[in-house]
Amino acid sequence: MRDFSHDHRWLSINTATVRAQGDLSAIIEACKRHGIRGLAPWREQVAAIGLKRAAAEIRAGGFALSGYCRGGFLTSDAAHHAAAMDDNYRAVDEAAELQAPCLVLVVGSLPQFSRAGSTPSKDIAGARRQMEDNLALLLDYARRAGVPLAIEPLHPMYAADRACVNTLRHALDICDRLDPARSGSIGVALDVYHTWWDPELEAQIARAGPARLLAFHVCDWLVPTADLLNDRGMMGDGVIDIPRIRGWVEAQGFAGYAEVEIFSTAWWQRPLDEVLATCVARHKTSV
Ligand code: ZN
Repeated sequence: MRDFSHDHRWLSINTATVRAQGDLSAIIEACKRHGIRGLAPWREQVAAIGLKRAAAEIRAGGFALSGYCRGGFLTSDAAHHAAAMDDNYRAVDEAAELQAPCLVLVVGSLPQFSRAGSTPSKDIAGARRQMEDNLALLLDYARRAGVPLAIEPLHPMYAADRACVNTLRHALDICDRLDPARSGSIGVALDVYHTWWDPELEAQIARAGPARLLAFHVCDWLVPTADLLNDRGMMGDGVIDIPRIRGWVEAQGFAGYAEVEIFSTAWWQRPLDEVLATCVARHKTSV
C-alpha cells in the first residue's frame, strides 16, 4: 500500500467539491497553488467555460484527470430515449477530448427521475433491464471513442432517483455480462461513501481486480447525516475506515488517484484555498 503521509501526488480533486467557490478556471488555478495535479471535472463546469478552453487549461497546467463526471441516467420512457442516448454520446466525446481515463456513470433508475417528463413508473426491475440494454449501446460507442466507462454503484438511499445499481457486486455482474473478456472498456468507480457499509466489499474488490477498478473516490460518512445528497464529510470527520478500503483496492494493483469528492453545503461555504488545504492535509492523515 502506498504511503500517502509525506506527499499528495496521488490526490485528485473532483471539482464538485469546490463548485460553489469558483468556475473551473479558478479551481484549476487554485489546484496549482496547492500542488494538486489530479482533477475530475464535471460536465456543467466544463461547459460553462467551454470544452476547448477547459482542455487547454488542463493540458497547460500539467494535470492528469482521474475521471470525467458524468454520464448515465440511461433510463427513460420511449419518448425520451433518443435524447438520453445523445446526451451520453456527447459525454463520451467530451471525455475523449479531455483525455479522461474514464467516464463515470450514475446509471439512473426510475424513469421519471432519470429523464424529466418521462411517464412515472415503480418498476425498478424494468429500469434495471432498460439501463443495461442502453449501457450496452453506450459501450459500443465508447469503445470506438476509446473511453472506458466506469459504473458508480450508489448507496441504496439513491435507488429511486439516481442509480438502480447499489452494490459493487451488481456493478461487476453487469461488467461481466457486457465485457466478459475484461478488456478494460468497462469497470467501476469505487466510492467509499456509497460502498463502505457493504459486508461483501472486500470480496467484491478482490473480484474486480485491476481490470475493473477504474477510479477510487473518497470522502467520509457523517453521523448523523443531515442531508441525503449534500452532507458528505471531509476525510477523517466520519466513520469510514478509508485507509483499510484503499488497502483492499491497492492490493488488487490499483495505483491511480484518490479522488476527493465532497458534496457539502458546509464545505461549499468555506474559502476555496481552505478547502483544498484541508483536502491535502486529510489526504496525508486519513486516506
Ligand atoms: Zn463518487
